[in-house]
Amino acid sequence: MKIVADLHTHTSVSDHAYSSLREMAQGARRAGLVAIGITNHGPAMEDGAHQWHFANLDIIPRQMEGVTVIRGVELNICAPDGHVDEMGGRGMHAVEFALASFHDDCYPPATRAKHTEALEAVLHNPQVNALGHPGNNKFPFDMEYIISRCNEYGKIVEINNNSLHIRPGSRENCAEIARLCKKYEVPVVVNSDSHIEFTVGRVDGALAMLEEIDFPEELVINSSVERLNAYFTGRGIHLF
Ligand SMILES: [Zn+2]
Ligand SMILES: [Zn+2]
Repeated sequence: MKIVADLHTHTSVSDHAYSSLREMAQGARRAGLVAIGITNHGPAMEDGAHQWHFANLDIIPRQMEGVTVIRGVELNICAPDGHVDEMGGRGMHAVEFALASFHDDCYPPATRAKHTEALEAVLHNPQVNALGHPGNNKFPFDMEYIISRCNEYGKIVEINNNSLHIRPGSRENCAEIARLCKKYEVPVVVNSDSHIEFTVGRVDGALAMLEEIDFPEELVINSSVERLNAYFTGRGIHLF
C-alpha cells in the first residue's frame, strides 16, 4: 500500500512548523504525491493560525509545484461538549478538509469518559471530516463506542504517522483503532502530520502497522487518486 496524498501538514503559519506553503508543496512533489492538505492549527492553540488565515484560504491556487493543494484546518477540541475553535463568521467557508484533534494546551487531558463525551460531540459537528490522531495515549476514550458510530455521522479516522514516533505509548492505540475501523468498515486517512518540508508523505510506520493487521486498502481514502477524488467529489469539492 502507498499514499498518493498527505492530508495533514503544517506550514510556518504555526510557529512550531518551519516550511512555507511553496516548500511544503515541493516536499509533496518530491515524495511523489499528487496532493497535499495544508491543515494549520486552529486559533485556540497558542501558536495556531489566526481565524483570518482560514477565511482567506481560497486564494491558494489549486495547483502548486505540480501538486494539488487542499485547504484545511486542524481544529482543536476545546471542551467536553465538543466545542472547537472560534473561527468567526467566514472562518470555515473556504476549508475543504477539517481534522479535529485533542491537544494538551487546548484541552488538558481529563478522564476517559470526558474524552469519549467530547469525541461523540465532535461526531455531530458537520464541519469536521476526520478525527485527528485519535491514538494519542494522553487522551484515552471508548474506542469501540466512537469508531462504531463514525459511519453514521460521515466521519473518517486518521492514522497519524507522527503518533507512532512522538506520542509515547500511542502505537498500540493506533493499531486498535485501525482494527476497529476494519471491523466497522470506517474509512481512514493515513497522514504524516509533517511540520517541515522534508517529512511530507512520510507514513512508513503507519502503513507497516496497517499491513500487519491486513487492513483493507479500499478503506484508505488516500491510497489511490480514484479513492481520494471520490471522497472529495462526494463532498462537492473537485480537486483535479
Ligand atoms: Zn495535532
Ligand atoms: Zn497536526
